[in-house]
Parts: sequence; C-alpha cells; structure tokens
Amino acid sequence: MRYDPDLFDDLPEVDIHDLSRNGRDSSSRNVNQGEDSNVNSSRGDHRNRKSNSKRKMSSRNTKDIKNPTSIREASIITYLFLLMFLGMILYFVYFMSLKSDSFIASSYNPRMTAQASKLIRGSIETSDGKVIAQSKVNADGSVERNYPYNDLYAHAVGYTIKGMSGLEKTENFSLLECHSSFLLQIQNDLEGKKNTGDTVVSTLHSKLQEVSYNALGDSDGAVITMDPSTGKILSMVSKPDFNPNTLASNWEELTSEDSTSSALLNRATQGQYAPGSTFKIVTALEYLREGHSLEDSFTCKGSYTNDGYTVHCAANEKHGEETTESAFANSCNVAFSQMGLTLDQKKWKTTAEELLFNTNLPKSLGTSKKSSFAIDGNADQATVMATAFGQGKTIVSPAHMLLLTSAIANDGVLMEPTLVDSIRSADSSVTKTIDKTKYKTLMSKEEASVMQSLMRSVVTEGTATKLHSDAYTAYGKTGSAEYETGSKDTHSWFVGYCNVNGRKLAIAVIAEGQGYGSSYAVPVAKKVFDTFSTLEN
Ligand SMILES: [Zn+2]
Repeated sequence: MRYDPDLFDDLPEVDIHDLSRNGRDSSSRNVNQGEDSNVNSSRGDHRNRKSNSKRKMSSRNTKDIKNPTSIREASIITYLFLLMFLGMILYFVYFMSLKSDSFIASSYNPRMTAQASKLIRGSIETSDGKVIAQSKVNADGSVERNYPYNDLYAHAVGYTIKGMSGLEKTENFSLLECHSSFLLQIQNDLEGKKNTGDTVVSTLHSKLQEVSYNALGDSDGAVITMDPSTGKILSMVSKPDFNPNTLASNWEELTSEDSTSSALLNRATQGQYAPGSTFKIVTALEYLREGHSLEDSFTCKGSYTNDGYTVHCAANEKHGEETTESAFANSCNVAFSQMGLTLDQKKWKTTAEELLFNTNLPKSLGTSKKSSFAIDGNADQATVMATAFGQGKTIVSPAHMLLLTSAIANDGVLMEPTLVDSIRSADSSVTKTIDKTKYKTLMSKEEASVMQSLMRSVVTEGTATKLHSDAYTAYGKTGSAEYETGSKDTHSWFVGYCNVNGRKLAIAVIAEGQGYGSSYAVPVAKKVFDTFSTLEN
C-alpha cells in the first residue's frame, strides 16, 4: 500500500492501516469527491497544498484512494464524537439548570425508589399544625400512607399510588430526605429502625380549607384562595373529589372510560373554563390603557346588535345610561361589547399575555393548564364582542384568575404562589422556611388602584352586594359563563378579595352549572371571607 505522507502529516493520531481496512467498502467512490472532502476536512493550513495534492492524486488508481477515503471517514467519526460530546455537555447544562429538580422529585427516579425503601415517608401538615398525610407502621413492619381528613385535602395533598399528584408529588424529594439529628439517625440504625423523612408544612390553613370545601357544597367546581402579599395558597378545593385512603381500590372506577366525573382532575389548577364576566377585568384594563376614561358613557337597552350578532345582558336587564365604572359594577355585556369593538386587537393580546394568558403558570402550583386568549388582530366583530365579556374562545383556569386578582390586590405585583410554608425534620431539629418571592409585576400600581376601585364598586353597588360586611372590605367581579352554545346553563364565577385591617385574602370560585355568579359563587366567597376575618393572623 502506497500513500503520500504530505496528505497525512497534520491529521489526528490514528492508525491509518486500520482505518483503511474500515474504508474498503468505499473504495469505488468517485476519486475527486474523496480527495476534496479529505483535504477540506483536514485543517485550514492544508489549503495551499490542495492543488498539489490533486495533481498527485489524479494519477492514482482506485486502490490508491483507499487511504484518503478512510481518513475522510476517520475525520467524520472524529467530528461525530466531538458533536456527541458537545451535545452531552449541552444536555448536562440544560439538565442541571432546568430539569434536575423535577427529575429528582420524579417517582420514576430509581434513587427515590431506593430512598423510599430505606425511610419512612415524612408527613404533610397544614400551617396550623393539622397532620393531613402521614405514614403508619403496622405491627408486621409494613408501612401504609394515611390521610386523616379523607376527601378534604384530596387534590391539594394528592396521592402516591399509580403515579403521584399534589404535594405528594411536588414535595416527594423532601418527604424522602431525613434531616433529623445525626445521633437519632445512628440510634435508629443500631436498633434496626427506619428513619423518618422530613415533614412538609404546607401553606394550607385548616379553617379556610374546611370552609372552602363546605361552602362549595355539592356543586362540582373549585375554590382556591391565596394571601396576595406572600403568595401562600391558603385553601385549594376541587370537586368532585376522592378519598385518598381508598383510592387504590377505587382506581379502576375513577379512571374508567365510563366515568364522566374526572374526579382525579384538580379543577383549581387544571380546570379549563370560559371566564364569563370575570374577564371584564382584562377588557376594562385594556380599555383604560388605550386612553379611554372611567367616565365614558354607554346606553344599555338590554341587548345590542352589530354585524349580525346580538349581545344580551343577563336576564335582558336594561341598565340604561352608564359609565365605564357602573357598566363594570353592573356587569353590562352591551357596554363591554361596545368597549371591545374600540380596542386594538394586538394591544389587547399583549395585555392579556402580560396577565399570564397563553403562558405557563408558575411551576410552584404543580401541574396546571395554560389559559388561552385567541384574539390576534384578525378576529371578526362578533368574536370581538363576545370576547370582551368573557365568551368567545377565551379559556381560563381558576388558579390563573386567582393570580390575576391577587396581583390587583397587591398593587400590581404577583407574588410567587406557593403551597409550602416550611420543611421540618421529623425530630424538629432543623427547619427550612420558604421565603416569599416576587413572581412578576402584572400592571402598574396606578392601574391596580383603578382596578381595585372598579372591583369595589361591584360590592357597593353592583352584582356582589351580598359581600357587604362590617368585618372586612370586599372587592370582586362576578361571572356567569355559558358553556354550551345556545344553552342558558352557566357556570357561576366569582373572583375577588377581602381586606381585614390590612390582611388580605384573594379567592377564585367556580361552581359548575350553578347559574349566575351572584347567586351561587358570591355566597361561597362570603363564607370564606367571613371565616378569614375571624382568624387572628
Ligand atoms: Zn346592560
């Protein structure tokens, strides 16, 4: 075998003879192709030799080019390895920065499975000290997970069979870590006992969870509340629910194709509903952002027809002469459809997206669904009119409406929502508190102040006067969301907050198929606000 050393002197250290054997299959390839690729794949300082090499190569027969072909393949292999290595580095950086937490917490992580066999899974408590999930060791040494309040905390706490959900999923890592004192761990090891994982102290408050659960009554739907100044979720209820203690035996029934209840779905974070008139918060904010006034006048005759589409106010009520503010308080669809027609669709979309539409909600809420706002500049007038008062194609989750309301209550700033207050070792020797952090500014302080006054007018003179109380000042917006075209059936919505001497509680309520927001959802919120006002801190 003959080769020209000039061709190879600057290549990586490879065994050319071995590579040429590997390259024999390619021996019949076009000479010029092999030659050019070979030279090009060597380093740049070979360019001057290229023409020289070509001359030498041109006189060779096909046997002579086995080596150049092999070298080309060697180069390709080298580059492939380099690319794979680079890819691994990039994936490693991506994994460490974005994915590692969720992988560590994943129930499919073998390390967590190993941890679970060595430790007794930690407990979950409410912020006021009620144990809402715990592990019990039976006489035979087996361990079973127990939920002392059955259905009450079902969706918030979640489960650990056939996958995981709720806090059991998001806090899996903490529940399987042990920070008890070193001495205690040694002692347990010597006695052959398992150590116990850390306790997760949730932000849920037992009194608010109970009143949220009971106030929603037999209705399907969701109630979720949050402290706007800290982001702490104080209650989270979704119905229909399930009893996590008997979930294993009921699993088939709850997840069968015949089941229409979707009881395992957490409607608070994953429910997808038309917002109804609660969306007037977004429309009003955009209307004012586009330079319009709270004093603009509208005339409501109970219905309004434009471009072949007719809008009705609830029960065809004629609201008469109104301002922007009274139209908001009365939840007048006629006035809002007229406001919608004046809006710049693209700016409206921008505002909606600043308010977390078409955006993932904070991961700290656990599994949640995006809200969607579909107006993009090309919508027809009928769609614009319907969208302005919360129908059309707009979809929201109760948790998203809670975040929007909380930001208004907190002068425009949305705090990072959290379900975890602190992590404590089983022997109380170590406690890690979760700090409150700002998530995003959704609107300016001045805009939030205007929205606060609009939401206050709903309680003083509009559709939520039932929320008048001497114990607190309430704010909000009602909604009745049609969920079937042409049907009179509606979901009952309320979003708002109360202020008790500076302590605030924001709430989102949806009661499926329960009619007007004022008739079902507002009384639910009232019961929750009443209870909140009696709490000491
Ligand atoms: Zn009206």
